[in-house]
Amino acid sequence: MGGIVLAVDIGGTKTVAALADGDDVILDELAAPTRGAEGPGAVIGTVLRLAARLLDRAPTARLRGVGIGTAGVVDVRTGTIVSSTDTLTDWTGTPVAALVRAGLGSRLPADAVVHVQNDVDAHAAGEFRHGAAAGADSALVIAVGTGVGAGVILDGRSLRGARHVAGEIAHVPTPGAGHLRCPCGRVGHLEAIGSGIGLYRHYLTLGGDPSETDARGIARRAAAGESQAVQAVRDSAAAVGRAIAAAATLLDPERVVITGGVPEIGEPWWSPMDAAFRSEAIDALQDLPIVAGTLGGHAPLRGAAASAWAALKGTP
Ligand SMILES: [Zn+2]
Repeated sequence: MGGIVLAVDIGGTKTVAALADGDDVILDELAAPTRGAEGPGAVIGTVLRLAARLLDRAPTARLRGVGIGTAGVVDVRTGTIVSSTDTLTDWTGTPVAALVRAGLGSRLPADAVVHVQNDVDAHAAGEFRHGAAAGADSALVIAVGTGVGAGVILDGRSLRGARHVAGEIAHVPTPGAGHLRCPCGRVGHLEAIGSGIGLYRHYLTLGGDPSETDARGIARRAAAGESQAVQAVRDSAAAVGRAIAAAATLLDPERVVITGGVPEIGEPWWSPMDAAFRSEAIDALQDLPIVAGTLGGHAPLRGAAASAWAALKGTP
């Protein structure tokens, strides 16, 4: 299938747009601040402005479709935001696909697709097609950063769920998190201890230095041997390992891929995560590979491109 697709990653702070070929290889890309506080008009406006500049730089390219990964829970069939946190003001209810199609106007052929999905699902699709899960039939891809998210791909297809929240591993009840409140308002969920913010808050409950400001600082303290920091990293990582054991028991993925800023702490994080998984997982799951993502920031763009091509071929 010739031509190109426009791939877009709408994050809380930054929007990246790219042109990609039929193998989801990024040909050209541009980024701009998301301006989420200014409302949906500003966010979509940024997407359209980046798109126009990219398309002007590729005047002979034939645009076949658009693939978008965005913060928020997405109804993939309609390309509309079902719910969203406050990071993007009034994002809930935004008909992203319809607005982007209308905004691109005659630049987008009538038979082109506009495919919109959650950014973690796009990220998972990228790692599944081209990254650490390439070649597998199924994968669980977990992003552990400011928050915790996951994308599930079974038999080559992204699992969306009846209410569009399949893969929301952030809110799995997790032993060890019972003393911490999750951003959803409940206590004891994975994100409350496993995310970067969760790690930080857990560190404070262990009597850590209140002048510390973030997870990065705690990682530095752990590397220097401070006992509360070492303990906080260990507990936070173990919670992720336990949640992976729960998810893997239910889904039996061929591979688990972990991405995001928190795993970049390195061995002091990976070792307790892996140990907690091995101690919880049944025998049949003991050889499940848990590996680091390989695409970095390009994963959502390449996944969004792959999903646009799949939608064009009628196999989203
Ligand atoms: Zn929660």
